[in-house]
Amino acid sequence: MQFKGRIFVVSGPSGAGKGTLVVKLMNRVPYLHLSVSATTRKPRPDEIPGVDYHFLSEEEFLKGVEEGKFLEWAKVHDCLYGTLYDEVKEFLAGGYDVVLEIDVQGALQVKERVPEAALIFISPPSWKELKARLEKRRTETKEAVERRIQNAKAEIKFADKYGYVIINDEVERAAERLVNIVKQERAKKKPTTM
Ligand code: 5GP
Repeated sequence: MQFKGRIFVVSGPSGAGKGTLVVKLMNRVPYLHLSVSATTRKPRPDEIPGVDYHFLSEEEFLKGVEEGKFLEWAKVHDCLYGTLYDEVKEFLAGGYDVVLEIDVQGALQVKERVPEAALIFISPPSWKELKARLEKRRTETKEAVERRIQNAKAEIKFADKYGYVIINDEVERAAERLVNIVKQERAKKKPTTM
C-alpha cells in the first residue's frame, strides 16, 4: 500500500536527550504521531501502559513476531522492543506522519523495508556529558548505567547509516534542527510504500 505520510526514525543512545527532543518536535509540528512501541521491559513507576509502551510478556511478544505483526524488533539492554505495523499503518492512513523512537538495529530494519523513511540520529555532545546525564536519572543501577554506556558506544558507530545527525549540545538548537528536518522532508512529498 502507498501512503502520503512519512516515517521519521529517531535514534540515539539513552542519555543523548532524544526523548526531550521528540516531545518538543511533537508539540511544534502538527499531524505527527509518536508510535507506541511494544516491549518486554517492566514498566517504570511513572509509565502508563498503552501510552508509554505496550507492555507484553516475552511469550506475547514472540507470538507477535511469529505472526508478522512487527515492522521491526530488536533486543535492547536484555529486553525485546518492537514497532507494531498497526501503530504505523493506521496513522499513515489517517494522514499523519509517524515518528519511531527506536534503537539502531530497528532503524536499519526500517531502512531496509521502507527505504523512503527519514533516519535521524541524535548524538550526545561528549561521553562525559552522556555519563553525567545517565547518572542523574537515578532510576538506574550502576550496572545499568554502565551497560547503557557500552550500548551507546556500539550505537554511535552506526550514525553514518542515518540521513541526518543532530548533536544535542544545546537542547533548543537541537530541537529546531529536528523540526526543520521534518519540515524539509515533508516538502519532498515522497510517498511511503509498505
Ligand atoms: P527505554 O527502556 O529506556 O524506554 O528504551 C531503551 C531503548 O529501546 C531506547 O534506545 C529506545 O530507542 C529503544 N526502543 C524503544 N522502542 C523501540 C522499538 O520499538 N524498537 C526498537 N528497535 N527499539 C526501541
